[in-house]
Amino acid sequence: MSIKSTIEKVIENAEKLNPTLNSFLSIEREYALNRAEELDQNQDDLALKGFAIAIKDNICTEGMQTTCGSKILHNYKAHYDSTAASRLKEAGAIIIGKANMDEFAMGSSNESSAFGICRNPWDTERVPGGSSGGSAVAVASGVVRASLGSETGGSVRQPASLCGIVGFKPTYGRISRFGLVAFASSLDNIGIFGQTSEDVAKVLSVIAGRDKNDTTSADVAVPNYISELSNEISGKKIGVPRALFGEGLDADVKNAVEQSIENYRKLGAEIVDVELPHAQYGIAVYYIIATAEASSNLARFDGVRYGFRAEGSHSLRENYYKTREEGFGAEVKRRIMLGTYVLSSGYYDAYYSKAQKVRNLIRQDYINAFEKCDVILTPTSPTTAFKIGEKSDDPISMYLSDIYTVSANLAAIPGISVPCGLSNEGLPIGLQLVGKHWAESTLLNMANVYEKEFPLNAKPPIFVG
Ligand code: GLN
Repeated sequence: MSIKSTIEKVIENAEKLNPTLNSFLSIEREYALNRAEELDQNQDDLALKGFAIAIKDNICTEGMQTTCGSKILHNYKAHYDSTAASRLKEAGAIIIGKANMDEFAMGSSNESSAFGICRNPWDTERVPGGSSGGSAVAVASGVVRASLGSETGGSVRQPASLCGIVGFKPTYGRISRFGLVAFASSLDNIGIFGQTSEDVAKVLSVIAGRDKNDTTSADVAVPNYISELSNEISGKKIGVPRALFGEGLDADVKNAVEQSIENYRKLGAEIVDVELPHAQYGIAVYYIIATAEASSNLARFDGVRYGFRAEGSHSLRENYYKTREEGFGAEVKRRIMLGTYVLSSGYYDAYYSKAQKVRNLIRQDYINAFEKCDVILTPTSPTTAFKIGEKSDDPISMYLSDIYTVSANLAAIPGISVPCGLSNEGLPIGLQLVGKHWAESTLLNMANVYEKEFPLNAKPPIFVG
């Protein structure tokens, strides 16, 4: 089959499902078909030739809209490609559209998008998780095999868990952030969704590695993630922080994750107890550091340089006020205010610098724990997909969705969510593995072996395979 006819089918599927799921904010029919035609003529052996991919709408793609799910960037078209997008293009992947998301990647349900909620294909009355909800749904509904999301505190792993697919966050510095619109720069990463960990490995192999345009990208050799996928896992040590399996954890999630620990034991892994004594402070620390950095990063959206500008202002200052007042949604404003507060003189020491110290303790906890084990296993999310509207008026309960994921961002370590079962209601559950800095191969391999031996064997009711 030609690449063009494959891509035609992908676009058709995306267009067919989008009125129901709203996972795409834009579908790039013309671009994708032209590119497919070019690739059909291309004789080169490219790593991702003809591979359809969706990209979260906060990752710049030249000539395509990049709205960050915000009115303030309505109709904004990026002038350049992010490094991830340009490496994907060079490898022959075809960007088929930009995916829905919580506004500026702030949220765990995709409900804060200025362009409408995105629905979970397992149950359209439920959220897909967030903030990369659209990217997760594009994969979970079968439109694409893989997509890019972004991760500041779990925005790839959590929706992957709620949608029954694989979601991967690299070590900070592994994938260039050039062209990823900044939310909280010390925590932000580009992450990858895949129907399988092999899909993730394929994409990671192409986009990982040092980039001169991002000084925080690391000059650490990139292994062959694909050839390292089928390594033996027997003898691997899995650390389980039992103290985190208590309050707030759904019984179904707990049971499925306990079962996955037993399954790993059957596969020859050794299970050891570990402690992460400061993990309980993760949410508080994250919501101080992330909002502080966001309040600074989002200052650039002022109605002058990008996207939306409010009408009817009589002065520059009024124009800033009105543009930001009208352009940002409630959650983004809440974060900017929180962040400004924790950085203000008089509160800086009490909140921001204290949070930085605790961040270090959290990081140290992992370093200590990894002396006893290769990876650490927990649930990805304390619950399965919740109902649309269930948490949207209660920011604290929404923030608690990130309890198992934020620490990996604080510690800059890699993590992966792998489907490990269904709840009594038939909703997917994910297990999370986090690993040592740069140990992406270990995570992908452990995930791959699990998927092969204990596959989910279920697809959502809305699926175009
Ligand atoms: N849900 C978290 C938040 O709202 C994480 C977001 C993310 O990883 N981008 O900040």
